[in-house]
Amino acid sequence: MDCLFCSIIKGEIPSKKVYEDDVCYAFLDINPQAPVHCLVVPKEHIESADKITEENAPIIAHIFSVIPKIAKIAGLTVGFRIVKGYRVVTNVGEHGCQSVKHLHFHILAGKQLSDRMA
Ligand code: AMP
Ligand code: ZN
Repeated sequence: MDCLFCSIIKGEIPSKKVYEDDVCYAFLDINPQAPVHCLVVPKEHIESADKITEENAPIIAHIFSVIPKIAKIAGLTVGFRIVKGYRVVTNVGEHGCQSVKHLHFHILAGKQLSDRMA
């Protein structure tokens, strides 16, 4: 299967690693939309949040359990100490503007983010 994020996880395409464990991989977004912009992906290919099930939910639970740690490391990676919070976003499908069809959570921080979601 041809998947950009699966290739990044395998190391076939370079990325700026922020964090890795058995379940997930986190790296800096190539086109940052905030001073800190990191992506967290499950190592198992899941197409989007729309494909979360009872069976794969433990993967998602794990990702959220490490997001506080990943956010701090991502900040430090780009020389920023996150103290005033951050945003976690996942885009789903066409109307959600999902461009890569491998579930990923954006962590955005380092400035006052918009109070609008859409
Ligand atoms: P989305 O639009 O929610 O699917 O998010 C996909 C994200 O992947 C965008 O923010 C892109 O900037 C990012 N992206 C695309 N290619 C790469 C890459 N090779 N390395 C890091 N981030 C990437
Ligand atoms: Zn994939």
